[in-house]
Amino acid sequence: METQAETVIIGAGIAGCSIAYHLAELGYTDVLVLDRGKVSIPLGSTGHAPGLLGRNSASSTMSALADYTAQLFARLPADQPALTRVGSVEVARDQGRMQQLAHKVARAAENGLEARLVSPKELGELVPYMNTASVVGGILIPDDGVLDARRALIALHDEAARKGVAFREETTVTGFETEGNRVTGIRTQEGVISCERVVVAVGIWGAALMETLGIELPLFPVQHPYVYTVPLEMLAGATQEAAHPMVRDLDHVFYLREHGDRLGYGWYNHRPLTVDAGQLMKADMAFPELGFMDRVKHDLFPFLRDTPLNHRLNGVFSMTPDGGPLLGEIEGRPGLWLAEAVWVTHSGGVGQAMAELLLGREPSFGVTEFQPGRFAALSLEAARQASLELYNNIYHWPAPRDLVT
Ligand SMILES: Cc1cc2nc3c(=O)[nH]c(=O)nc-3n(C[C@H](O)[C@H](O)[C@H](O)COP(=O)(O)OP(=O)(O)OC[C@H]3O[C@@H](n4cnc5c(N)ncnc54)[C@H](O)[C@@H]3O)c2cc1C
Repeated sequence: METQAETVIIGAGIAGCSIAYHLAELGYTDVLVLDRGKVSIPLGSTGHAPGLLGRNSASSTMSALADYTAQLFARLPADQPALTRVGSVEVARDQGRMQQLAHKVARAAENGLEARLVSPKELGELVPYMNTASVVGGILIPDDGVLDARRALIALHDEAARKGVAFREETTVTGFETEGNRVTGIRTQEGVISCERVVVAVGIWGAALMETLGIELPLFPVQHPYVYTVPLEMLAGATQEAAHPMVRDLDHVFYLREHGDRLGYGWYNHRPLTVDAGQLMKADMAFPELGFMDRVKHDLFPFLRDTPLNHRLNGVFSMTPDGGPLLGEIEGRPGLWLAEAVWVTHSGGVGQAMAELLLGREPSFGVTEFQPGRFAALSLEAARQASLELYNNIYHWPAPRDLVT
């Protein structure tokens, strides 16, 4: 086994692989990426993400990270890019919501994105199987898309490996080597690997791993339902990942996309359920029989009520108090870097910015707003409460940025 690398990345999910890919793109390959699973069978959240990639945000940085990610996966992998740009729509049932959508159109323009308001008639044409009877209008963002997250992950891994980054699978990191406050290496079940710097990109396991150093992370793994229908007659013969825009329903915190000839949908309007990730080997759990399915609202897609499901997923991902990632070197812990709570949507831009920061360069995106210590003034319990509240309000931005110290 390798006993030394200048930069060690723990976690070969979309965050770790994107950082490795971008380091290699910048010509730096003294990198070892470790994962306790295999990239081809991801144990983490990336293996479950249905990959709705919406680029508009109240944060211009988040928007830029997502836009870059979309551009990256519109060309990677070269033979069959992971992103399908079908566009996204959000619907409004009253004028209050329409005003919010008008605000989002204005914000999109500020973010350099194309977006416009659409009538119920146009919504019905864009998504022919949507019932628009209760809808007064919506927003269309034409170049948003849906991502095959596994294909994106493997593309990043393959390119990074091809350029010389080392990957070590089925290797669990159990702790860190330190000299004073400086991290000088990591411990695995097979021995110690010394390094100049470590990037922790272990997703929902971040708080548990940081605990070994006595560091509390404001990162909370939550359960999230996502279900797939059986193949549908109306989508029969589908030849691409998706053909119609993905849909978001802000009133019911519900979203839906196509997966070839099936539909997939998820929702956030249930009681947020945290989980101790230290007890999990993979980022999914048994689907609770009570409390999930009865929260689904069917008025936009009444046929879903009677459509059988062929898969019900209770996935796990990370929430933070403002919904943003935790990025950068931990203050007072030289050599210890975080890339945590990274959504697939922002993974390309995060990888680029983190690679630049690790190499001491000016980052292309203003990610200092996501420095890991920004919630220092919140108790862990206050951070947890804010994160769970945000789970139910995930589409209702602007996010409560006043939480940030
Ligand atoms: C149901 C569901 C729906 C989602 N929908 C979307 C969506 O539509 N759009 C979107 O952008 N995002 C979505 N997400 C969120 C997204 O999947 C995650 O934010 C993202 O995949 C996290 O990537 P990651 O690389 O940080 O973590 P992960 O993918 O979890 O990777 C972490 C890796 O670290 C490894 N690891 C952990 N501990 C150790 C250790 N001690 N030693 C070695 N290796 C270790 C794990 O094996 C894993 O491979 C969804 C997630 C779920 C579960």
